[in-house]
Amino acid sequence: MEIQQLLSKYMLEISKVDDENKLYSALVGILKRILDFQVLNVLRDKELIYSEPGDVTIAKEYYVDYLQWVEERLHPAFLPFEDIYVGLIPIFKGSKVLSLIVILTTNEPTAEVIDYLQLIAYLSGITLENLRLFKIVDDSREYYETIINVSNDGIIVFKDRDVEFKNVKAEQILNEHHRLFDEILKSIENGTEFFEFEEANSFFSVSLKGIKLFGEDRILVNVRNITTEKEIQKLKEVDKIKTNFIANISHELRTPLAAIKAYVETILSMPMNYEEIQEFLNIVHEQSLRLEQLLNDLLDFSQLESGTMRIVVEPANICDIIERAVSTVQVFAEEKKVKIESECLPITIECDRRRIEQVIVNLLNNAIKFSDPQKDSRYVRVSVSDEGEKIRISVEDNGIGIPGDKIDKIFDKFYRVDNELTYAIPGTGLGLAIVKEVVEMHGGEIQVKSEVGQGSIFEVILPKTKMSKE
Ligand code: ADP
Repeated sequence: MEIQQLLSKYMLEISKVDDENKLYSALVGILKRILDFQVLNVLRDKELIYSEPGDVTIAKEYYVDYLQWVEERLHPAFLPFEDIYVGLIPIFKGSKVLSLIVILTTNEPTAEVIDYLQLIAYLSGITLENLRLFKIVDDSREYYETIINVSNDGIIVFKDRDVEFKNVKAEQILNEHHRLFDEILKSIENGTEFFEFEEANSFFSVSLKGIKLFGEDRILVNVRNITTEKEIQKLKEVDKIKTNFIANISHELRTPLAAIKAYVETILSMPMNYEEIQEFLNIVHEQSLRLEQLLNDLLDFSQLESGTMRIVVEPANICDIIERAVSTVQVFAEEKKVKIESECLPITIECDRRRIEQVIVNLLNNAIKFSDPQKDSRYVRVSVSDEGEKIRISVEDNGIGIPGDKIDKIFDKFYRVDNELTYAIPGTGLGLAIVKEVVEMHGGEIQVKSEVGQGSIFEVILPKTKMSKE
C-alpha cells in the first residue's frame, strides 16, 4: 500500500478511537507498515504506559539523556547504538509533549520515513489531546453529578418542557409526588419563580430560575422538602394558640364571675328594695347565662374534638329559628347599639333546630361583637333566600371586617384575629369552628366575604332535606 494511502487509512482509524490504548495500537499498526521495529514503548511523564510486544521494556539508559532534547525539538530522532537504533518520536500538540514513543529498530530510517513519522506524531497528538479533553469533560461531569446527587434538594433542569437533567433526590421526589411535576410545568408556563406544594402531609418549596447553556434557555428548578420546618411552625402555632386560649378562657370566666360576685356582695351588704334587688339579680342571671354559654362552647368543642357531636334532624321553620336567635342576642345588640334587621321566607327545612339556632346566634353575636365603634349607624342584617334544593342564610354586618390574609383561618379552632381593633373584644376562637362543624354535619357549607372597615357577610347554605353525616 502506498504511504499516502496508509496515512489516510490511519486518519480514518484514529478518528474513531475512544481511548488512549486503542490509539497506540492503531499507531503500532501503521508504524509496522513503514518501519521495521522490534520493540515499541510509550511513555507519559517518563512512565511506561504501553508496550509492544506486551511485556518488553526498552532500557532507560538508551535514551534518558536525550529526552529533554527531543521534547524541545518536537521532532523524531534515531540514536545509533552498536547494531541497533533507538527511535524517539514525541507525540505533541502545539508545544506540549503528550507522550513519547520509544522504538528499537535495526535499520536507520530514511529522511522521508522520518518526515512521515513527524506527520503521524502530529496527527496522533491531535487525537490524543481530544481524547484527554473528552476525559476531562466526562470526569468533571461525573464529579459535579456526584456533588449534585449528594444534595438533599431535588435539582431539575428543563429544556422547554422536557427534563434535561435531574438528580437522584429529584427523581425520588417526583416518583412519590406526580402532581408536583404538573405544578412545576404550570409554573414554567406562567413564569412563576417560587411556590409551595403540599401533598400527603409533605411540604415542598420550589424555586425556578432561568439559566443558559451555550446561549440556549433552560429552567433550573430546586425542590426542597420543608415538611420538618412546617411541622415546627405548626407546633409553635399550637403552642401560641394554647397560651392564647388559656388567657382568653381565664378572661371569659373572670368577667362574668367578677360581675356575679360584685352584684351578690352588694345585695348582701346593702339594704335594697325589691326593684333594686330584681335589677341586680337580672344582671347576675345574664352573667350566669354567659358562663353557661361558655361551658356549652367548651362541651361542644370537646365533642367536636372527639368526633362525638351528633345532630337530631326534624322539620323546622327557618323563620322560627331566626326569630329565636335574634331575640337571644337582642339585649346584647342594644347594649352595643347595633340594629338587627331580619327578613325571612317561611321555608321548612330538615335540621337540628337547636344547633342551627346556635349557628345563627353565633354569627349574630360575632356581628355585634365585632361591630365598628367608629360608625354612627351599626347594623346586622339576617336574611334567607330560597335556592331550590337549598336555602341560603346570610348574616351581614357593617363591622370592622376581617383582613384578607386571615379569612382562611377564622374557622380554625382557637383562631382569633389579633390586631388593635380586636384585642379588647372577648372570645375563645371556638365559635366559628363549632359553627362550621354543625353546618357540615347538615351537609351544608359556610362562606364568608369581608373587607376591613366595610363589614362582613357570612352565608350558611343548607340543604332543605336531611343530608346529615353521622
Ligand atoms: P371568637 O368570636 O370567640 O373570637 P370565632 O371563632 O367566633 O371566635 O371567630 C373567630 C375570629 O373571626 C374572631 O376572633 C374575629 O377575629 C373574626 N370574626 C368572626 N366574625 C366576625 C365578624 N362578623 N366581623 C369581624 N370579625 C369576625
